Amino acid sequence: MKSLSNSAATIRDYDNTHFMHPWEGMAEFGSADRTISASAEGIYVYDQNGRKLIDGPGGMWCSQIGYARQDMADAISNQVMKLSYNSPWNTASAPPALLAKKLADLAPGDLNTVFFTTGGSTAVDTAIRFMHFYNNRLGRRDKKIVLSRVRAYHGSTYLSASVTGRDQGSNNLDIEKDRVRLLSDVNPNLRPKGTSLDDWCDAKLAEMEALILETGPDKIGAFIAEPILASGGVIIPPPGYHKRTLELCHKYDILYISDEVVTAFGRLGHWFASKDVFDIQPDMITCAKGITSGYLPLGACLISDRLLEPISGEGHENTFFNNGYTYSGHPVSCAAALKNIEIIENEKILEHVRAISPRFMEKLNALRDLPNVGDTRGMGLVGCVEAAVDPSGDQTRAERLQAFGNKVDQKCEELGLIVRPLGHMCVFSPPLVITEGQIDDMFAILSEAIRLVATEF
Ligand code: PLP
Repeated sequence: MKSLSNSAATIRDYDNTHFMHPWEGMAEFGSADRTISASAEGIYVYDQNGRKLIDGPGGMWCSQIGYARQDMADAISNQVMKLSYNSPWNTASAPPALLAKKLADLAPGDLNTVFFTTGGSTAVDTAIRFMHFYNNRLGRRDKKIVLSRVRAYHGSTYLSASVTGRDQGSNNLDIEKDRVRLLSDVNPNLRPKGTSLDDWCDAKLAEMEALILETGPDKIGAFIAEPILASGGVIIPPPGYHKRTLELCHKYDILYISDEVVTAFGRLGHWFASKDVFDIQPDMITCAKGITSGYLPLGACLISDRLLEPISGEGHENTFFNNGYTYSGHPVSCAAALKNIEIIENEKILEHVRAISPRFMEKLNALRDLPNVGDTRGMGLVGCVEAAVDPSGDQTRAERLQAFGNKVDQKCEELGLIVRPLGHMCVFSPPLVITEGQIDDMFAILSEAIRLVATEF
């Protein structure tokens, strides 16, 4: 075989010609000008020219312990040499068993059973399929509809995309519309002038109950909710919302799936945010990303004892939960997750996040004084800056917002910071090991970029 050249031009060429990226833009297909990440260490990524960039989004909200950890590399390589694969169908192995026990200990309440998946979408898919299975086994074959929310993101498989409330306006891909009902945006900033947060919360709850009654509680199987809507723009629902939506689910016998793909493993300073931050005990929790700090792919769906009890054991002979993947409980991914959790524990990274997040929030909110900043919001080590611009000439507000966002992204990168481009929003979820000084550097670059772009506008 001809040896492949590693030059940046060749990589870009091969990447454009042969690698179809997630959310590939069809207009630029084959000619995109992507930065090439060459290496990474700590919170920094180095590009093809050796430029050092702060990783603002922490990979894709997943790099908790930072890059290039030798102890992680050793754990992965040791497991590769010991047992690189094991079929999860009929045999067991140590890493997934130890990890399942560890997750059961870390998760709140009776979430004691873990179904391992390949990532977040398949974890969400599994939670929804488990709800189908559960209701079928209980003879409630019509109780399958999922309640979700506008701006929610739950993944990219057919089912997880169907319960995703973002971009449902686009009709380029099909989704399972009949099985989903969407609730309106919970963003407190959208409340009409003079409406208190409590009134906003009441309105959201009233809407949810009305939708349940209109659809029929006997037809709704689950409510799926991210504790904070991450990809939707770091939307934090009003105080009391989580507990009250859970109460409504209990009232109508609807399963509560807390999608913690972003919020688990320290992003909000706790292993899981559902109980420790928002005081709710969900029926299922889905997680992925930070479970391995992005070193290897892995996801998990945690299931409560209460759900398994009536559908397992005596009387359920020859019944199978026909869901699973070749890589469910992959030993190397699970060994990476165990090492990741050990590092987070030993280095007190959760405590570090709790100690450092006031600095993060202070710097984030200081951006509000800059021109063209409409809003900032965040919690723990996740934040969002939203631009505000007026329409001008023949450009609509939406077009100008998009253009402003793109320019800020570009400028940040020139100045040494990767941001997550989400239209006119910049989203931050840096590696959890970021220091105070590095937080200051990150926001200094962002402020400078916004200032420079604002003067051009
Ligand atoms: N759920 C949430 C809340 C997410 O943010 C994501 C991805 O960003 C997913 C699910 C899908 O995870 P994955 O991309 O690992 O399939």
